Amino acid sequence: MIKMKDVYKQYPNGIMAANGFDIHIKQGEFVYVVGPSGAGKSTFIKMMYREEKATRGEVTVNGIDLTKLKAKQVPYLRRNIGVVFQDFKLLPTLTVYENIAFALEVIEESPKNIQKRVMEVLDLVKLKHKARMFPDELSGGEQQRVSLARSIVNKPKVIIADEPTGNLDPETSWEIMNVFEEINTQGTTVVMATHNREIVNTIKHRVIAIENGRIVRDEQRGDYGYEA
Ligand code: ADP
Repeated sequence: MIKMKDVYKQYPNGIMAANGFDIHIKQGEFVYVVGPSGAGKSTFIKMMYREEKATRGEVTVNGIDLTKLKAKQVPYLRRNIGVVFQDFKLLPTLTVYENIAFALEVIEESPKNIQKRVMEVLDLVKLKHKARMFPDELSGGEQQRVSLARSIVNKPKVIIADEPTGNLDPETSWEIMNVFEEINTQGTTVVMATHNREIVNTIKHRVIAIENGRIVRDEQRGDYGYEA
């Protein structure tokens, strides 16, 4: 479902952040992306939702070649991809409910379906009782759960997460991982950049390791691998 073929990315400042990525991620896989800071992990995953455009090569998601996608088609692509960030990116003036409903309002779902679906995903992340609260009334872990609920409300085939536990304490990080696990068990592909060694070494999945813009390791049920 996600394919990269001979993908290169050069930023305008001349930095080569991708030097020939070749990967194939199948529907339903859970993939960790690991590597030192500046290795190219964010660049790798940003090219999967066209936040960055590859300079050369092919990036295909759900059969669509993202390198050929016009800018105005990008919002349509994003509807089929859930994205979760380290810093949550919730809208501070909207309630928990509204933050999640927003993604469905823009695609003009009926109010009845919106309510049903928002309550379903809030139930999944165990935050139904906080639907009327604002993001700044929630803990970091709760905000990340809202952000996860928002990312899956459209039922995307894939979720892409850039260090989703980066701002959370260890216990909260495990809670968030459990939600990712549950989403993955239901068939959603997960691609997650992370620095969390303990999680990668405990909840085993495929590991793609990147260094200097190159994939240096790609293992099923891999380890984190790097020294601290
Ligand atoms: P990681 O996520 O592994 O920390 P990144 O993909 O963010 O790595 O960065 C890879 C390299 O590309 C780094 O050298 C970084 O400085 C550079 N880089 C990232 N984003 C940009 C950008 N928008 N403009 C120029 N250089 C960038």
